[in-house]
Amino acid sequence: MPARVKVEMAMDLQDARIIHNRVLGPGYYKMELECIPSLAGAVPGQFVMILIRDVEGVFWRRPFSVAGLVLEDGKACGIELIYKVVGRATAAMSAMAPGQRVSLLGPLGRGFEVPDESDPLFLAAGGIGIAPLIFLARHLGAGNYPGRIIFFLGGRSKSDLLCLKELEKLNLELHLSTDDGSAGLAGPLTEPLAEAVARDPDGMICACGPPGMLKAVGRIAASCGCRCQVAVETLMACGMGACQGCVLEQAGRQGAYLKVCRDGPVFDASRIIIPG
Ligand SMILES: Cc1cc2nc3c(=O)[nH]c(=O)nc-3n(C[C@H](O)[C@H](O)[C@H](O)COP(=O)(O)OP(=O)(O)OC[C@H]3O[C@@H](n4cnc5c(N)ncnc54)[C@H](O)[C@@H]3O)c2cc1C
Repeated sequence: MPARVKVEMAMDLQDARIIHNRVLGPGYYKMELECIPSLAGAVPGQFVMILIRDVEGVFWRRPFSVAGLVLEDGKACGIELIYKVVGRATAAMSAMAPGQRVSLLGPLGRGFEVPDESDPLFLAAGGIGIAPLIFLARHLGAGNYPGRIIFFLGGRSKSDLLCLKELEKLNLELHLSTDDGSAGLAGPLTEPLAEAVARDPDGMICACGPPGMLKAVGRIAASCGCRCQVAVETLMACGMGACQGCVLEQAGRQGAYLKVCRDGPVFDASRIIIPG
């Protein structure tokens, strides 16, 4: 199977039934949703817009990365989301039970495009940035990638390192970092990442995380001449290119903008001014 992750642009609006909604860690949840086939074709880096109805003060859909496919008899029948409770919509999501439904639009945006020949592939996930990267790691780590995969997982503390057990089972080299030193190296994941990229600049980085981390990853890539794709999370209201609320300025083209929802959320890091 080729390693290139294809972008599918078909999208649908549907009422998706919650299969599971489980606690992953303090403030973190994993929700599995039963979906119609177009969503089961989602690729790592794509996202969905979710509307939680009847929540006071929540009028707009909220974007969430597809964190995986739910498989039944080897066939995709749904998607997985990993989310952090930060406000009203995510708090309401965390209280939902299996059998309830959410309105879901997707899959949206452009996913990661991993060329066959990159070696090694550096995956870097900070905090909730794990969501698109666990999907990518699962896909590539299941024998769909011929080269080495080196995964850098970072968070504030040990409890912010999600999907650890699953990552340990995949065919990849795993490096952990926490700001408080409670697991792995003490400090930002960008420190071991920078060292690894300097040793192997012919590889490629795929990253998702907070703005400061993505900016630092972009700088590491630029200084080593390493290819780099970043999944960017900006505030957005529509997810379809209409509201223009999620635009980012293009690098080297002052006054020219790209829409995170339509042109991204995954961008070549050299193409945009990474916010933060
Ligand atoms: C393409 C994309 C993919 C995303 N994937 C995920 C995911 O897989 N898991 C996940 O937990 N979250 C993800 N997010 C962020 C998620 O959309 C927000 O956390 C969510 O909309 C918050 O809704 P709320 O009503 O709970 O909080 P709100 O009340 O809307 O916001 C609470 C606080 O969080 C801040 N905030 C909201 N959205 C963002 C954002 N996008 N970036 C930075 N700060 C924000 C607000 O400014 C505010 O301070 C993604 C965002 C984008 C654009």
